Amino acid sequence: MSLAERYQTVRERIATAASAAGRSPGDVILVAVTKYAEPEDIRALMELGHVDFGESRPQQLIQRASMAAEWLERVRVLGQGDDPHITHALDPDKPPRWHMIGHLQRNKARKIVDLVRLIHSVDSLRLAEELQSVLRKTDRRIDVLLQVNISGESTKQGCLPPAVPAMVEQIDSMYSLRLRGLMTMAPYSENPEDARPHFARCRELFEEIRATGAGEGAFNLLSMGMSGDFEVAIEEGANIVRVGSAIFGAPKA
Ligand SMILES: *Cc1c(COP(=O)(O)O)cnc(C)c1O
Repeated sequence: MSLAERYQTVRERIATAASAAGRSPGDVILVAVTKYAEPEDIRALMELGHVDFGESRPQQLIQRASMAAEWLERVRVLGQGDDPHITHALDPDKPPRWHMIGHLQRNKARKIVDLVRLIHSVDSLRLAEELQSVLRKTDRRIDVLLQVNISGESTKQGCLPPAVPAMVEQIDSMYSLRLRGLMTMAPYSENPEDARPHFARCRELFEEIRATGAGEGAFNLLSMGMSGDFEVAIEEGANIVRVGSAIFGAPKA
């Protein structure tokens, strides 16, 4: 399958899962995770009109965001050219929205805040405080998700469920951060059904917090589901899925 076909297939699977759950496909944001993607594949996806991209490593995010910005700038200045083989073209008015989805060390926070639309991976009070202190002297505010370690695995990042309400309260008190919801990852398994109870538990936690009016009433994003389990995640209430290998292919060894 080509990249365009894999992308289309993922979009169709999202639409089917959303409809099965009684929701509109447009309610689910697809973040294309580029960590194993080749630069030309990122460009090809942008040419298909895709805007939401995710990276798990800050350095990579910085490089790729600046590369994409350069492509768009070149098109803005030089136009598309008249190559008859171009069927899709970059739209300079559709800049990518970058999502930071992996563990963020505090010393990298300053470098990425201006590049990202949403940080999915706020996993400690210290990181939240660092983001707040980086942004404090500016007018900027940034949207963040609290990453929850829903399964409690010791290898996973994230706030343990019992600590979530206190953490939500703390983040909500930081002016420069707008808490938009929760992010979680299910334990690795070959069987997507194994993820279901974890996603269901995260959804419950999400609803409980939303009912408290957190995030100035804008607490409405639930980021869960990857290539192996995004349909189950959507069925359990996810409205952002983070999909890498199902779009870009498995990582090259
Ligand atoms: C890599 C990654 C993904 C995407 O994984 P795939 O299985 O390739 O879809 C999603 N979320 C996070 C946090 C990741 O690091």
